[in-house]
Amino acid sequence: MRFINSAIAGVLPLVPKPIVGHFAQKYIAGETLEDVTRVIAGLNREGFMCTANILGEHITTIEEAEKYLNSYKEVLSSIREKNLDMNISIKMTQLGMGIDDGVCFEFMNEMIRLSENLNNFIRIDMEDSRYTTKTLEIHSKFLKNYSNVGTVIQAYMRRSETDVKDLVKLKANIRLCKGIYIEPIEIAFKEREEIRKNFSHLLEMLLKGGCYVGIATHDEQLVDKAYQLIDELGLSNEKYEFQMIYGVTEKLRDKILSDGHRLRIYVPFGQDWYAYSIRRLQENPAIVGHIIKNIFSFR
Ligand SMILES: Cc1cc2nc3c(=O)[nH]c(=O)nc-3n(C[C@H](O)[C@H](O)[C@H](O)COP(=O)(O)OP(=O)(O)OC[C@H]3O[C@@H](n4cnc5c(N)ncnc54)[C@H](O)[C@@H]3O)c2cc1C
Repeated sequence: MRFINSAIAGVLPLVPKPIVGHFAQKYIAGETLEDVTRVIAGLNREGFMCTANILGEHITTIEEAEKYLNSYKEVLSSIREKNLDMNISIKMTQLGMGIDDGVCFEFMNEMIRLSENLNNFIRIDMEDSRYTTKTLEIHSKFLKNYSNVGTVIQAYMRRSETDVKDLVKLKANIRLCKGIYIEPIEIAFKEREEIRKNFSHLLEMLLKGGCYVGIATHDEQLVDKAYQLIDELGLSNEKYEFQMIYGVTEKLRDKILSDGHRLRIYVPFGQDWYAYSIRRLQENPAIVGHIIKNIFSFR
């Protein structure tokens, strides 16, 4: 079944959109700002913090980047109006990185400045390896003027240990995740256990180095390892947070919260939900089995 699921995952892009939509509901708050703020208000009531992301990564013009900037500004206004416990996660390619890096810097600067006025925070998501150096450089530039910005380190990248050493010096606010893009073996660990080992190692470096860490994983082994480290270092729960993606491993997420840790849910929304959903579904072949069933019973 595992093989069949993986094979089907490869042809998911051919699955009719309404079927993908049916499964996507679990992972996406909806298409509009109203949808996402309603979902986040509900998660806040359950005790979760959130971070919102507008779906859509591949843009080709600065006009499109400006549209995303304006949409993100609307998200900020909504956070204030509705008094939500949430911040914003942004992919810099969405604000023009790779098209005009100068404009992207200005757009990001505007978002960070506006969110600073609201005592809010901007997380710069980490994209594929073409952007790693640039993202880290821009992030450290922002740190000279702002404290309400942080970025992401991917445990599968071989360079991450060196990057973490630099980030510890800056006492940066870092989300640590495994990494989601397909990278060549020369620059990235490929084995599950190697990635886990590096995740634990980097987490230890960051926590011991006094960085605030967003521990972003659904992997129970890594959650246990994090618990152990937090305990050993005697950290109070405002020094770190766990992070998970909306709709994923909800039991584990509830357990972490009831164990007394803080947990932030990454909530994507927007009209570009289709490509995002395909990626999430490809990551979890077990769900593909349900899709197969649906394909054959779909009317
Ligand atoms: C809050 C957050 C932010 C992230 N930001 C980035 C980023 O900026 N850049 C980046 O490259 N990557 C990012 N990621 C993705 C991350 O790198 C991993 O690809 C992803 O989280 C899966 O790794 P894992 O640690 O959960 O371990 P895995 O071993 O992949 O998953 C552990 C278990 O979680 C469950 N699970 C995982 N994914 C799904 C799913 N889609 N549906 C259902 N169950 C699932 C499965 O039961 C699986 O066995 C982020 C992840 C999170 C949680």
